[in-house]
Amino acid sequence: MKFELPVLPYAKDALQPAISEQTLEFHHGKHLLAYINKLNELVEGTRFKGETLEAMIRSADGAIFNNASQTWNHIFYFETFSPKGGGEPKGVLAEAISKKWGSFEKFRQEFSDAAVSLFGSGWVWLVESRDRSLSIINESNAGNPLREGHIPLLTFDVWEHAYYLDVQNRRADHIKGLWNIIDWNIVAGRVIKD
Ligand code: MN
Repeated sequence: MKFELPVLPYAKDALQPAISEQTLEFHHGKHLLAYINKLNELVEGTRFKGETLEAMIRSADGAIFNNASQTWNHIFYFETFSPKGGGEPKGVLAEAISKKWGSFEKFRQEFSDAAVSLFGSGWVWLVESRDRSLSIINESNAGNPLREGHIPLLTFDVWEHAYYLDVQNRRADHIKGLWNIIDWNIVAGRVIKD
């Protein structure tokens, strides 16, 4: 079975001004599609044909890892947002954030700083470990924390293609806007359940 471009759970203009319609047209409709098409091509005739994206992220290297991970990362990223997003998490996730960072505001600051200062292209992640602790992790290029056994809860894409059409080189301005479109119910749904 071939991987296909998932339909976005919102209209392409629904996340403005945080992410413009034009950026979504390119980022989802061209960048993500290109990773998916490339991955379908690459797995032909290899042991990865028919495997899940997660299996490829855990055990592939080189181009198959890069394209599988970029596919997974983008789907996860786009699924996090909602035009009704923003605010703060509630419940178990809010408690875990307070336990680690003292307050949501301190977590947001640290996550934003990590995203702004990540050198080059990559992803910043909020992850949960098996011991239920939370961490912020920077990954370069196609990096994905599943590879180290962490559970991804939230990610920001800091590749320039994620924001250049909207704010050019001002990555910090883009990061600021993303907090207004995070659907915390979706993020909370990713927390490990007993
Ligand atoms: Mn991207």
